[in-house]
Amino acid sequence: MSGATADALERVADGVLRVPLRTQTLPPFTHTNAFVLASDGVGVVVDPGAGDATAVAALRAALDAADVTAPKGVLLTHTHPDHVGGVDALRSLWPDLQVWAPAAELGRCDSAWGAIGVRHGRRLTLGGAVLTLVGTPGHALDHVAVWWSAHRVLLAGDLVAGAGSIWVGVPDGDVSAYLASLERAAALDPVIVAPAHGPVRRDGATVLHEARRHRLAREASLLEALQDGPARIGALRARLYPDLPEAAFDLAERTLLAHLAKLMRELRVMHVGSDADGPYALA
Ligand SMILES: [Zn+2]
Repeated sequence: MSGATADALERVADGVLRVPLRTQTLPPFTHTNAFVLASDGVGVVVDPGAGDATAVAALRAALDAADVTAPKGVLLTHTHPDHVGGVDALRSLWPDLQVWAPAAELGRCDSAWGAIGVRHGRRLTLGGAVLTLVGTPGHALDHVAVWWSAHRVLLAGDLVAGAGSIWVGVPDGDVSAYLASLERAAALDPVIVAPAHGPVRRDGATVLHEARRHRLAREASLLEALQDGPARIGALRARLYPDLPEAAFDLAERTLLAHLAKLMRELRVMHVGSDADGPYALA
């Protein structure tokens, strides 16, 4: 795919525009999808991950295309750097811009933003349209997705990726919460799932199901590895991710630690060592 194609504006549904912005995000991804949501000339920007001149021009073009002169606000699905990098740039263009962020992540917002904390069930009005925020923690300490029921579109943030999987690892990641969030999202029965990384998916139920299956397969292989006896985190990582470059060891081990934390809460695994590296054993 050429850079030009990857960076193009995409009309996802009426009033939903995807604006891929180049960001420093986790591989294999190179972009964060910002979205412009608009109705009756009222619009918000979701997850402006970058604030360089190219990113700002792309966001302005999307707002223009949606007939929005000045956005009402910026909604952050969560506060990882690749989702918030453009907030300052947008606030300098529109100083009155409201910033909304998940309540439990307010402490991670720049205090200058004056961000307002939002929770599951909060409604957001855009002219005559009503959108609902869906609490979807698991990938981050706190996380909200946006449900536009009239279009059956779920803006998923980092709940799922358009291709491949979303990272869930310690300290923020929580596998139990993540699985519950996938279920909560699936219960909405979205047709379109628009994630922050990768392509927009028009087989909404499938992408949510795939994410769940991927997590449960990872858990099953972890339990299988522990059947051979207690193991330290490095050995588990080497077994479950045999071909990983060394640079990715830390992320992989933090994923496994998040899975182990879930299994320990469920009393299926125990920690039999003296530090976080383990060893871990089947309970
Ligand atoms: Zn993230």
